[in-house]
Formats: sequence, structure tokens, C-alpha cells
Amino acid sequence: MDQPFLLSDSLMCMDQLRAGEQLRVLDRYMDWHHADVMDGHFCPNLTLGPDFISAVCSAAQKPVDVHLMVERPQDWIGVFADTGAAMLSVHAETIRSGAFRIFRAIRERGCKVGLVLNPITPFEEILPAVNEIDRLTVMTVEPGYAGQPIVLPAVEKVKQAAEYKKQTGARFEIQIDGCCNKNTYATYKAAGAEMLVMGSGLFGLDKDIETAISGMRKQQTEALKA
Ligand code: MG
Repeated sequence: MDQPFLLSDSLMCMDQLRAGEQLRVLDRYMDWHHADVMDGHFCPNLTLGPDFISAVCSAAQKPVDVHLMVERPQDWIGVFADTGAAMLSVHAETIRSGAFRIFRAIRERGCKVGLVLNPITPFEEILPAVNEIDRLTVMTVEPGYAGQPIVLPAVEKVKQAAEYKKQTGARFEIQIDGCCNKNTYATYKAAGAEMLVMGSGLFGLDKDIETAISGMRKQQTEALKA
């Protein structure tokens, strides 16, 4: 069956004591794995480190996108490229002093380039960079925790990005990170989202990950039927 979105699982939302078991299932059904790296400075939490991500990359067939929510991503490119990640995604808010140098460094390490926008950051701000990136991730929640309330105006940026792609033929993928669940699928699809990062909207459905995945698919089909 055709899936309405490409889907990433948010690795920080796995049951950490059953991570290997859940990863094997996720790896069969999902398109990407999404690794949130938080440094406690750029956002108020500490999450996944390079050793864990290396273990995931070794075990998984599907590619891993490392979402760097850190104050100085330039300090971490080598470390996270060495994990075997396929893509490193950096925040627009953290690369002002050397965006293009950072993109180049990521590519030189053999990774694809992702760019992420906090809810407050306008799409226009990254226009000079759109042809340098493989994926634009629009955050519809503030970075830091799973299960936060949606910042609805951020969805407008997805529309802008989709419109921009249509008009210019730009090739970056448009992903949403935040509040991807049965209440938002239709809105996100209509806005032009191509990929979703699945956190609570997947892992919150059932303790058994296979049941959760099939529940998520049903909800997506249902939400987009209209
Ligand atoms: Mg993320």
C-alpha cells in the first residue's frame, strides 16, 4: 500500500530497556531512524550520544538522521559522522557564523545535509541555503521533549517551503518534527509535508511496537481518507 509520508522513528522515544528489540521491528517498517542529540544548552534536555547512535547504525539497515540540537554543531560533525549516520541535521539558529562551511564539512565526511528550523525561525532566513541541503525539517514544537503542544503557526513554513519547491524545482525534502499524530496528519499533508518524525504519535499507541506501527498506519489512512 502506498504510504502518505516517508516516516522516521524518533529513537529517543523507544523503550530504552528494549531498544535492540524495538529497533529490529522499526527497521523493517520505517524509512529512516531519527536520533535526537541534545546538549542541555541549545535546548533543556540531554539525549542520545555517539556510542548509542553508532550501535544503532551498525544494527540498522535503514539510514539514520542525527538531529543536532547543540550549541556548536561544528564541534560534533566528525564525532557523529563517525557513527555511520547517513545525514547530519543542524539548526539554522546555530550556524549563523559559518553555515556554508558547516554544510561543506558535513558533506566531506560523507553525510547528507539537513537543516532544521525552530518554530520561531522564518523560512525566509534559510533561502540562501536551500540548494545546499538535502532535507528541511520544520519543528512544530520547541526542541527539548517529546509530547509537547503544537506551535501551529510553524506549519505555515511547510506551506512556504512546498510552494518554493514547486516554483523553483528545488530538491530538498520537507519533514516535520513535532506533534505528528492522528490530529495533525491531514493538516501536515495539506501543508506539503513529505516526511514525518514519529515520536509519541507512534510510541504512545502501544507497548508492543509492531502493534503501534500498524495502529499508526491505520490512523494515517483514516485521517487522509476524507
Ligand atoms: Mg528531532
